[in-house]
Amino acid sequence: MNTNISETFGSNVFGDAVMKERLPKVTYELLRNAVISGKSIDSNIADSVANAMKEWAIEKGATHFTHWFQPMTGITAEKHDSFIAPTAEGRIIMDFSGKELIKGEPDASSFPSGGLRATFEARGYTAWDPSSFAFVKDKTLCIPTAFCSYGGEALDQKTPLLRSMDAVSKQALRIVKLFGMEDVTSVRTTAGPEQEYFLIDKELFSKRPDLMYCGRTLTGAVPPKGQEMNDHYFGVIKPRVAEFMKELDSELWKLGVLAKTEHNEAAPAQHELAPIFTTTNIAADHNQLTMELMKKIADKHGLVCLLHEKPFKGVNGSGKHNNWSLATDTGINLLKPGKNPSENPLFLLCLAGVVKAVDLHQDLLRISVATAGNDHRLGGAEAPPSIISMYLGEELTEILEAVENGVHHDDRHKTNMTVGTEVIPTIRKDNTDRNRTSPFAFTGNKFEFRMLGSAASISDANVMLNTMMADVFMEFADRLEKAKDFNKEVALIIKETVHEHKRIIFNGDGYSKEWQEEAKKRGLLNLASTPSAVPLLTLKKNVEMFLRHGVFNETELICRAEIMLENYSKIVHIEALTLSEMVKRDIMPAVSKALKEICLTADALKSALRKDALKAQKDIIEKLSEYYENLYGYVNELDIKTEEAQNVADPLKRAEFYNETVLSLMEKIRAVTDDAETLVPRKNWPYPTYGDLLFKV
Ligand code: ADP
Ligand code: MG
Repeated sequence: MNTNISETFGSNVFGDAVMKERLPKVTYELLRNAVISGKSIDSNIADSVANAMKEWAIEKGATHFTHWFQPMTGITAEKHDSFIAPTAEGRIIMDFSGKELIKGEPDASSFPSGGLRATFEARGYTAWDPSSFAFVKDKTLCIPTAFCSYGGEALDQKTPLLRSMDAVSKQALRIVKLFGMEDVTSVRTTAGPEQEYFLIDKELFSKRPDLMYCGRTLTGAVPPKGQEMNDHYFGVIKPRVAEFMKELDSELWKLGVLAKTEHNEAAPAQHELAPIFTTTNIAADHNQLTMELMKKIADKHGLVCLLHEKPFKGVNGSGKHNNWSLATDTGINLLKPGKNPSENPLFLLCLAGVVKAVDLHQDLLRISVATAGNDHRLGGAEAPPSIISMYLGEELTEILEAVENGVHHDDRHKTNMTVGTEVIPTIRKDNTDRNRTSPFAFTGNKFEFRMLGSAASISDANVMLNTMMADVFMEFADRLEKAKDFNKEVALIIKETVHEHKRIIFNGDGYSKEWQEEAKKRGLLNLASTPSAVPLLTLKKNVEMFLRHGVFNETELICRAEIMLENYSKIVHIEALTLSEMVKRDIMPAVSKALKEICLTADALKSALRKDALKAQKDIIEKLSEYYENLYGYVNELDIKTEEAQNVADPLKRAEFYNETVLSLMEKIRAVTDDAETLVPRKNWPYPTYGDLLFKV
């Protein structure tokens, strides 16, 4: 492995430096300007770029190219074409045209499209996103692209993300200009997603159908030791895991991914990778690559990387913390409070804007993280609750309150933190320390949205954040542009916004029972499941807002809601079938075998002992028989209900049926299998236990 990181970093990326070196000067300038201004690329430039890209990729060993895109399956898709083109003499040349760079035409019909497939052409096209660099992976030149239907409807995660970034930039620009920043030409959103994951042994993994088919365990008794000792968090990394992390970092660096920190997480076998933040669409691409490489590299080390949000019951699940902020192209972070936040009206206005956006669109934030997997995690005692609220910390809350009440606030510097790093602003050290229970926390110079599931793309969440902010900025800008006294109007907007939306601010313990009650009193939404959240996507206020900013049209929203529900139902369906098979073919036979063994023993003992001396054996026989009976009954019911679920025609009703009926039956079965596991002899239990999976890496 090459240890000179500064040399290998980005070596597989067709990045800015390579382009500058290899493109004709005019082409380079035109391309750069097009990217900065978001204009489309001229076909002459495309030919020139394609040629340089091809030459470079071939030098890197590439033989194929692919339009790399993110359909709504949650994973990335690629269809590889080779560079070869026949010549008249019957030989081949390596060819790649501007046309091939700009546009690809995969068959859209096998990707989820909601109703779009029926009403529009089955064909879709991929379009080059020049704002995210091309790269070489597995001997293939990968070109980041957006994926649309022929009618132009977005069929992927990237298209709406790019649209939402444009929208928020446009509106935020109006605001910063009003504050006199004439040199700013765009405002970008930044994201730094911290990625949690589990690593388990590959051989043990392959003995568990639930992990293989569903990515999570559907049965499994709690081991004697869990995470209660907290000895894993930031603990010494095991050699095998350390090797994995080393290779992962190295491969990510070659792809220009700014992987920064790797550490153990709270649960045994759980780890985290945090990158340095970057522009949101690049961060989204990089996060996809990170997940892909995690899986691939784990495999090389005899490990399996689990990205599921809740692979183990009773053990912390995995999330993705989306650190998010807004920055001008001149390098000013709009969410940085500075030394005197109370005298920083632009910061306070932006902060108030976020408060308003989050309060008004709790539904959208909840929807953006709604998946079958994440439902198991949210609301547990270790993950943010399904209620959206915001943590601002004491000082900022006080400042906003002071503005609301029209009183002066003295920023208190006496207890400033002096940690000597640029990243942490001089904000008074909070008495409450860092709040880890808030779904949406202000962390110094950015917000951290913590509800995202570990397996999902970060695009959905950022589309919501960007669009919500665009809408609020639009409203603020409309008022400010008309204001006679600008400063007065700014103060008034902040004051009114805080007054109207402060119910969303909560600095206490988000995991507590009291908060559930309190949130209800405040009228905050509590959407516990995906089927209860998704229908809100097409509320009038949402349709109108997305349309206003050109992010989604109504058809796209309807389709997206349908796809979310479809995915949900499919996942629970597969889980139900898997559990049924496990119970019937492995678990019931194991219980039966244990029963037989103990009956034989009891029989053998009978003649040697007094009749009433067999109490323990009887007890166990009774328990095992009861488990067997119950499993038989429940699993038959599960089979019937799973079949019934499939026949529910309406997507929402079907998802609800899976949630209410099928999932709860699965829970019932699990309660029995987990009890049975503690009574059946270890040698007879058909699967590796939680203890094996979590502690034998
Ligand atoms: P935690 O304490 O939650 O683990 P870390 O400091 O490890 O937080 O991670 C913070 C993440 O936030 C990093 O990925 C970092 O790059 C990112 N981040 C920092 N500043 C910004 C910003 N302005 N915009 C977006 N993300 C940011
Ligand atoms: Mg974090």
